[in-house]
Amino acid sequence: VIHDEVYAIAQKYLRKIKRTGPENIMAICPFHRKMNGQEESTPSFTMSLTRGLYFCFACQERGNLTTFLKNVGVSTFIMEKVYGSVIHAVRSQAPRPKDPLRPAIFDNSPLPESLLGFFDYCPTDLLDEGFDEELLQKYDVGFDQANMRITFPLRDMSGNLVGISGRTVIDEYPRYKVYDTEYERWGHPYRRVNKRSVLWNADRVYPSAFFKNNARVVLVEGFKACLRLIQCGVPDTVALLGTYLSPEQRWILERIGGQVYLMLDNNEWGQVGTARVGAILAASLPVKIVEYPEDKPQPSDLGPAEIKEALENSKDYYLWATEEKNRWLLERIRKV
Ligand SMILES: [Zn+2]
Repeated sequence: VIHDEVYAIAQKYLRKIKRTGPENIMAICPFHRKMNGQEESTPSFTMSLTRGLYFCFACQERGNLTTFLKNVGVSTFIMEKVYGSVIHAVRSQAPRPKDPLRPAIFDNSPLPESLLGFFDYCPTDLLDEGFDEELLQKYDVGFDQANMRITFPLRDMSGNLVGISGRTVIDEYPRYKVYDTEYERWGHPYRRVNKRSVLWNADRVYPSAFFKNNARVVLVEGFKACLRLIQCGVPDTVALLGTYLSPEQRWILERIGGQVYLMLDNNEWGQVGTARVGAILAASLPVKIVEYPEDKPQPSDLGPAEIKEALENSKDYYLWATEEKNRWLLERIRKV
């Protein structure tokens, strides 16, 4: 029912509509024009018929059914009078944060690689941020048109695909989501993936570190920081997917061995995480703390030269821990 009503709206306000799947359409973008003032000739505007979400790969315009209607010029009166019920229906389709009927048991069994085929679109947001298209392809970073999220594959240490994490491009909550019910759309059962047992990119770093005498591994918080370092010539980088280090992640780092360079974000959570993760890892591995200018919130804001400099100037954890400026951090982690 929602399908038909959203489709009817699309037909009224969009041109050159093409179905790109059971629940999605592509069309000429109504919100941007080419440099010569003409409409685009090939569709780059995509819309979900179940959720009413839309995104333009060319101009990056994005939003929900309400913002769509507003932007194509529908008055508030008509919006409520004519489209009120479909807007309400589409909103109720939004994924619920927790479903009590679903089991809370983790399933990290392998998924078929073919699942990634559904996300085989280039995430243009990341290109705009300076990420290299080939690199994104190599690491299977894609785009989920149905949920408007940039997709990152989650892999176990052997490289098996175990889940998908999606980062919203339309300010939905949460910003990053490890998929659970989403797999059903592509014919795979609901699964709850244990993110804590994934150390992102460890499946690639482990084999290369295995053959090196002086292996080093750089530990960062998220996908973007990890990809930035890889692109800047530091392939042996792994991501915690947060500021906590789980026992499983610690085990993986001990398997990899070698020198750990800890390079979390510069915000308060990142700093507290540095003190905590550093203390845990330093008990069994040599750990260095990588500092970088405070006006750069995260490693993905750094260029190749800045990354190189930061790594070269890193400090041994025990030395870092004796510094006066870090005293409050050590007091913070002692309290927790
Ligand atoms: Zn557009």
